Amino acid sequence: MMDQRAWIGLGSNLDDPGGHVKRALEELEHLPLTRRLAASTCYVSRPIGPADQPDFVNAVATVATRLSPLALLDQLQALEQRHGRVRQRHWGPRTLDLDLLLFADYRLAWPRLTLPHPELAHRAFVLLPLAEVAPELRLPDGRSVSRLAAALGDHDVSPMLPGA
Ligand code: ATP
Ligand code: CA
Ligand code: CA
Repeated sequence: MMDQRAWIGLGSNLDDPGGHVKRALEELEHLPLTRRLAASTCYVSRPIGPADQPDFVNAVATVATRLSPLALLDQLQALEQRHGRVRQRHWGPRTLDLDLLLFADYRLAWPRLTLPHPELAHRAFVLLPLAEVAPELRLPDGRSVSRLAAALGDHDVSPMLPGA
């Protein structure tokens, strides 16, 4: 299989979130049959869903991979496990969340994998870092990531300050 581009959304809000996200950005360089290309800067966001939990740190990475979409998802879930992720309540706090945002121009609705990620076009904490690493990128339906990011209404996402 040829190299294909994929975009991964990273998030953490437990146990030094910035550390988990920065380490995971480095660990993405070591996935099999995969090269990590761009990595965004880090952003801080208020949680979606249950509000009684800490702020998230978010980022996005671009990779080139010869893995299939499901094999890449397996690798991402294994990396979440190595960061000690424990699945508790839906949208609850977690040490590391790795979402497969886009894989080439695939559109899938499989039990384990929906592509593009279904919430991608609505989430400021995804669109801002994604537009940073891939300003020219378009979704499979033709919408521009930069235009979606520029059109966001009020949101609670800001650049993470150095040293935070
Ligand atoms: P959200 O998907 O709304 O961001 P979440 O990240 O908290 O919520 P998880 O508990 O991490 O959800 O994942 C639940 C399941 O979603 C995973 O087991 C995985 O099989 C499935 N899934 C479907 N599509 C994707 C995708 N594009 N990226 C990652 N996981 C996906
Ligand atoms: Ca998620
Ligand atoms: Ca997830």
